[in-house]
Amino acid sequence: MNVWVFVEEANGAPAPVGLELLTKARQLGEVSVVFLGSADDAIAELGRYGAAAIFKLTPTDGVLPAAGAAAAIAGLVSANAPDLILFGLTYTDRDVAGRLSARLDRPVVSNASDVRSDGGVVTVTTEIFGGSELVETAIRAEAPALVIARPKSFTAEPGEERTPAVTEVAFPDTGHAGSAAITAVHVEESTGPKLEDADIIVSGGRGLGEAEKFDLMEQLAGKLGAATGATRAVVDAGWVPYAKQVGQTGKTVKPNVYIACGISGAMQHLVGMKDSGTIIAINKDPDAPIFDVADLGIVGDLHQVVPKLIEALG
Ligand SMILES: Cc1cc2nc3c(=O)[nH]c(=O)nc-3n(C[C@H](O)[C@H](O)[C@H](O)COP(=O)(O)OP(=O)(O)OC[C@H]3O[C@@H](n4cnc5c(N)ncnc54)[C@H](O)[C@@H]3O)c2cc1C
Repeated sequence: MNVWVFVEEANGAPAPVGLELLTKARQLGEVSVVFLGSADDAIAELGRYGAAAIFKLTPTDGVLPAAGAAAAIAGLVSANAPDLILFGLTYTDRDVAGRLSARLDRPVVSNASDVRSDGGVVTVTTEIFGGSELVETAIRAEAPALVIARPKSFTAEPGEERTPAVTEVAFPDTGHAGSAAITAVHVEESTGPKLEDADIIVSGGRGLGEAEKFDLMEQLAGKLGAATGATRAVVDAGWVPYAKQVGQTGKTVKPNVYIACGISGAMQHLVGMKDSGTIIAINKDPDAPIFDVADLGIVGDLHQVVPKLIEALG
């Protein structure tokens, strides 16, 4: 099977989800990358993850790249006939995949947690009802199959190192569609580990009671070298920014340890953190659904338990 992975450059390196998808793609067949970026280091890194060929699209500063990227990939598809193109569930990847789907008149299956080849038919797994049910979708449309996968569905591991053949690909003129301009980019200021990459996450829910109490999460996270996360209830209340939201409409995380404080365990939250290594829940309600997925649970008032933990950690 001829598998392509769309990979965007992020801070001079391949976006982490791109490396996860490359790792999966190696299990499915011969791997090529459509790389939206320019850093040479990133290209070498793609080779370390098994990319045999790279189609390189160098974005122009200030231009939103998706329309041009989709048009370029559509041209490459007719010349190279890939069987499957994998995208990550990110803003740019989704933008490109949707436009490519329209250009090629092929379906796109999104939100995938797994993808495999069943006798040459691309079959995609998606989770519904908070991961309690799995849906298998066989893509019987003409190739290429277009699949968008959730971050953290696969663990990124280098392997089958190659020195990829790099082909520079020009952005075709897409007229009006390609005229959207980037007028400003704001990088969110943050301290400590990034939520998506953190080994330990301390997450707070509505049980905190008020915005000021989120400081307890920050203090505990500080002791553990952890990142802080939150539920949508907390984000909607304006206690913390959206960047901290874990769940269906927030981030998907997979730390070694996830500490859920005052979080009920609604399925929309669980879907974003249930694959964490060890889940520790602190909740005063012994029947809270979070305890169904927790490895360790403390039934108690977080306003008493968390300060004790902070104290014990010195
Ligand atoms: C389309 C859609 C998308 C959504 N996406 C997301 C998403 O991405 N992420 C997300 O998180 N939610 C999401 N939600 C919302 C989700 O359904 C829940 O409403 C939300 O997760 C609840 O947040 P919570 O656990 O903080 O609050 P609650 O459900 O109100 O739970 C608070 C918990 O705190 C406990 N508690 C209270 N006081 C204390 C105390 N002193 N000590 C210890 N425990 C205490 C309570 O027993 C309770 O279990 C989505 C909903 C919809 C409809």
